[in-house]
Amino acid sequence: MTSAFTCQRCGNCCRRSGEVRLSDDEPATLAQFLDLPVATFTGKFTRLREDRQGLALTERPDGACVFLEESPVTCRVQLAKPRQCRDFPFTWHYDDLERVCPASRDDASHRAAAGPP
Ligand code: SF4
Repeated sequence: MTSAFTCQRCGNCCRRSGEVRLSDDEPATLAQFLDLPVATFTGKFTRLREDRQGLALTERPDGACVFLEESPVTCRVQLAKPRQCRDFPFTWHYDDLERVCPASRDDASHRAAAGPP
């Protein structure tokens, strides 16, 4: 029997190294949420994507998302977080998702497609 996916807010997916890619409108959305000018936000919290086709969020020195807070574990931009984060693990996920994400072990709704968007 399966149950609905319920995030356990462990932060493991946010600690996983990899790009959080931003769509063209997301820097302005995030800047507004943080009450920052867009240029300040992009300079402080974004970098060029590896494919040089747009922006991605920067990471902490340990590879975790720059917006992950640890005590308690929470996303600093939860209410405005990028689509890539909102879509995880439903439209994309890591190949070893069930090792990383405790919530996925009891739920089958994430098993649509593996790999980042
Ligand atoms: S790894 Fe899974 S349970 Fe943990 S925060 Fe991410 S989505 Fe939620």
